[in-house]
Amino acid sequence: MTYRTHRCGDLRLEDKGKKVVLSGWVKRSRDLGGMTFVDLRDRYGVTQLVFDMERDPALSTVARGLGREYVIRVEGQVAERSSKNPQMLTGDVEILVQKLEVLSVSKVPPFTIEDETDGGEELRMRYRYLDLRRNINQRNLILRHNLALAIRNHLSSNDFLEIETPYLIKSTPEGARDFVVPSRMHPGRFYALPQSPQTFKQLLMVSGYDRYFQIVRCFRDEDFRADRQPEFTQVDCEMAFADREEVFKVCEALVRHVFHEVRNMDLPQIPRMSWDEAMKKYGSDKPDIRFHMTFVEINELAQNKGFKVFDAVDLVVGINAPGGASYSRKELDQLTAFVQRPQIGAKGLVYVKCNEDGTFKSSVDKFFSQEDLAAWAKKFNAAPGDLLLVLAGETMKVRKQLSELRLEMGKRMNLKDKNTFAPLWVVDFPLLEMDEETGRYHAMHHPFTAPVKEDAHRMEKEPQNARANAYDLVINGVEVGGGSIRIHEREMQRKMFQALGFTEEEAEKQFGFLLGAFEYGAPPHGGIALGFDRLAALLGGSDSIRDYIAFPKNNAGKDIMIDAPAAISKEQMEELELKNLKTPEEKEKQQ
Ligand code: ASP
Repeated sequence: MTYRTHRCGDLRLEDKGKKVVLSGWVKRSRDLGGMTFVDLRDRYGVTQLVFDMERDPALSTVARGLGREYVIRVEGQVAERSSKNPQMLTGDVEILVQKLEVLSVSKVPPFTIEDETDGGEELRMRYRYLDLRRNINQRNLILRHNLALAIRNHLSSNDFLEIETPYLIKSTPEGARDFVVPSRMHPGRFYALPQSPQTFKQLLMVSGYDRYFQIVRCFRDEDFRADRQPEFTQVDCEMAFADREEVFKVCEALVRHVFHEVRNMDLPQIPRMSWDEAMKKYGSDKPDIRFHMTFVEINELAQNKGFKVFDAVDLVVGINAPGGASYSRKELDQLTAFVQRPQIGAKGLVYVKCNEDGTFKSSVDKFFSQEDLAAWAKKFNAAPGDLLLVLAGETMKVRKQLSELRLEMGKRMNLKDKNTFAPLWVVDFPLLEMDEETGRYHAMHHPFTAPVKEDAHRMEKEPQNARANAYDLVINGVEVGGGSIRIHEREMQRKMFQALGFTEEEAEKQFGFLLGAFEYGAPPHGGIALGFDRLAALLGGSDSIRDYIAFPKNNAGKDIMIDAPAAISKEQMEELELKNLKTPEEKEKQQ
């Protein structure tokens, strides 16, 4: 053993007296009188080293010169500690060092590599390789590994084959922009990086590989939003001869298995909710059902009572925050300010306090009598002590606003317990969605999604009224996955492209390969993709997927450690025949 007989987390009291060799990083060192104590760290733990000035002055002098994060190798003897540390697995022992070798020196790290670090996010991202030495990140990456393992084991023991699909492809329309890669061999032509392996997994079904999966990187050039990564990982699945029930059964078993393996937890049965109901009751297609506070529509109680703000709108809708009547003026003002933030955009917030004595105090007392408010309270099923919060406006907008308020109240009232998991299937999405910018319909899921059987006849004349046989798996308000039953008939796919405003030629040019495949015996099929990073974050109890990615991009889509994206050389640009493009530096000069 050149470098080590044991790892830094291995040694216990039973090893007392053994001669050992350890290698690792100097976590910290302390001088106490004649003794120098060094905490030696590796992936597996920390072991205390002791250097005794009296026993070996030369060695102790070298030890005193060790800086943080030096890489060293030591030989020594395991001894029982006089003051034990029950917090550490190796806390009963220490190594009386007889030989020390510095394998590599280190500059003073830019932040302390401890659980509680003094390094800010930006600094830690720049030195991600140091950040990854911290326990928390190690724990996260280990969780990610275990998750991948659990998924692979479960799916392969259920006859799924992991099959790789290419990264250099032609665009797949999934609602985002493609990242493109210029081709040197074919100047002026571009590959696109897959937004998902969607069309390939469907082709695999045509090929007869009736259960496919892949833990696969996907690329989407989207506008930056919190907790989005331009490249992310999916657990992509597809099954032939499967209807929705079959996909649900397989997916539920998978999710249940990983919760069990990774969190040792049994997930509850997964209820289902239609998209319509989710929007009406929660104002969201990914409701967090860990808590109720469902929407109550009160148009008939609130309109035509002289309050103009309510009279002029489509929808007056609110939630009942149980026990919220004790909110102070200041807290209510904060809630008003919350819904008025530009990101949410409500004009104002109406509140009604249901007092303990059975009276009501509201922000609209001028317009509504105690009897009126009592009728509201009844409709909301409110009890004395509760607080009603009401918004008004255009239906879809006001639902979205109230959804944000509901989530905020859930947070304020501690109803979002990190260790409770409330999964939900959202089903029957609309097939099409109007794109406000272009005035065209686009597929809400993707253009390969089949309509539900009952709505198939609508595809010719009124596709906008068809529901999709699409589904999302939502856990605690996070969209963990989405999928659909696919179109497997050429004729239906033609109707779909037509509904999306493609001409026959455009459809043929872009998707000829798929339409062609459907002419050679395509089985009915469907599938789903789960967000692997999100699943890891959820299981780990974090809101941020970045914590579970070894080398993530920041919120602006940049990797600040390697400095990407970056300009390429003139020569590279010429080779790719991107000659007319200017480097950012050249553009700057021009200005
Ligand atoms: N390709 C889809 C997505 O990435 C998932 C699916 O329909 O299976 O969202």
